[in-house]
Amino acid sequence: MKITPIGATQGIVTGSSYLVTSDSGESILIDLGMYQGSPELEKLNQLPIDCNCSQLIGAILTHAHLDHCGRLPVLLHQGFTQKIYMTAPTKDLAELVLLDSAHIASEDKFHAPLYNQDDVNKLFSHVQTVDYETDLIIGDFTIRFNDAGHILGSASIEVLDNSAASGFKKAVFSGDLGNSPEDIVRPTDVITSADVVVMESTYGDRLHPQEKPINMIQSEINAIETEGGTLLIPAFSLERSQEILHHIGHLKRSSLIKAETPVYLDGPMAEKATAIYEKYPQYYNQEFEHDFETIGNPMQFEGLVMIQSGRESQHLSKDPQAKVIVAGSGMMSGGRIMNHAVNYLPLASTRVLIVGYQAEGTVGRQLLDGAKYVDIYDKSIEVNAHISETQAMSSHADQAQLLKWLSSIQGVKQVILAHGEDGPRQALAAKITEQLGITDILLP
Ligand SMILES: [Zn+2]
Ligand SMILES: [Zn+2]
Repeated sequence: MKITPIGATQGIVTGSSYLVTSDSGESILIDLGMYQGSPELEKLNQLPIDCNCSQLIGAILTHAHLDHCGRLPVLLHQGFTQKIYMTAPTKDLAELVLLDSAHIASEDKFHAPLYNQDDVNKLFSHVQTVDYETDLIIGDFTIRFNDAGHILGSASIEVLDNSAASGFKKAVFSGDLGNSPEDIVRPTDVITSADVVVMESTYGDRLHPQEKPINMIQSEINAIETEGGTLLIPAFSLERSQEILHHIGHLKRSSLIKAETPVYLDGPMAEKATAIYEKYPQYYNQEFEHDFETIGNPMQFEGLVMIQSGRESQHLSKDPQAKVIVAGSGMMSGGRIMNHAVNYLPLASTRVLIVGYQAEGTVGRQLLDGAKYVDIYDKSIEVNAHISETQAMSSHADQAQLLKWLSSIQGVKQVILAHGEDGPRQALAAKITEQLGITDILLP
């Protein structure tokens, strides 16, 4: 078979996409992500998809993050007529993410939108849901989804080319691999064999800290309970917000924080995502499933308030009581958290807990770097808040986890590293050769 990476290459982490062509000439597409980050990078989204879309015999989506699904509606503009395969939770989450993306694009005064909400709805009439660990025949290919343990419904994909007489017959595409054990989703499935492995390398050069995020969340909430003030937790709407609610639920039920301390989940997107998580208990890990069966919904607890409208959100900014606000965006690069930042960062009683990766140039990164002033909505905002951070909640595998996942796959002749900056890719390549003896490694 032939594998052509058409995104997330050259040290770019976003825009994931691969074209897979069988020996007899049939092609499928795996992922069609959006490029995200700098304006130069985002310009790449405007280019036509680098394949003959009308000839594709199908497409596969590994998971619902925008950097993997964000350009899928464009496929239809380019003549795609076949089915798109994904797990049921991925279908629901991707629909939410793509409708939101179309909505944001429609409000952008400077760029023509790639697609609108009608295009997203059309796209989902092509979707067929699939189960994990079940063979699916698409033309020349046998496809199998495995749990990647990254976010709800995420998958690694095995692709067997039944038309190949010699050479590479079987490929594995990692998708994004989880930081197992995760709070909600199951551990990453072990895959046992492949000729070629295409894998992500986001954290190919580092190890995650071993600290327990729940302890950090507890001490931050205890601090505002004794001293007053507001705890801001910027969080992504998918997975991270639900994990935070799960932790706070445990702390409340074991009386490690006060039952009456209000916790606001601010944002319709996070609330809708949480409702999707509640729909799929069969995708939970053992501990989360046990919680669900014994105490009911682990993301619900006394004092939790879901904020819907922008007006309710504004109102929160004038509320002097001790409270927790969980809101997006996760890197403080837009969304409901920004208004809270304007109001609360100048107050010395405010605490900010950063729970995810913060890209260069975002307000979140500036806070971590100790900025005394940050620019929000063209205003300079003084920072007197207390800033702390945990990196232990990452939903990506670190170097050791990436190596462990790869080491269980037998017969690997070639490894292709994508979805990573050049430093992490090179560091991971060196480790793969040193520890697993694989020397044929491509950094496309
Ligand atoms: Zn992802
Ligand atoms: Zn990704």
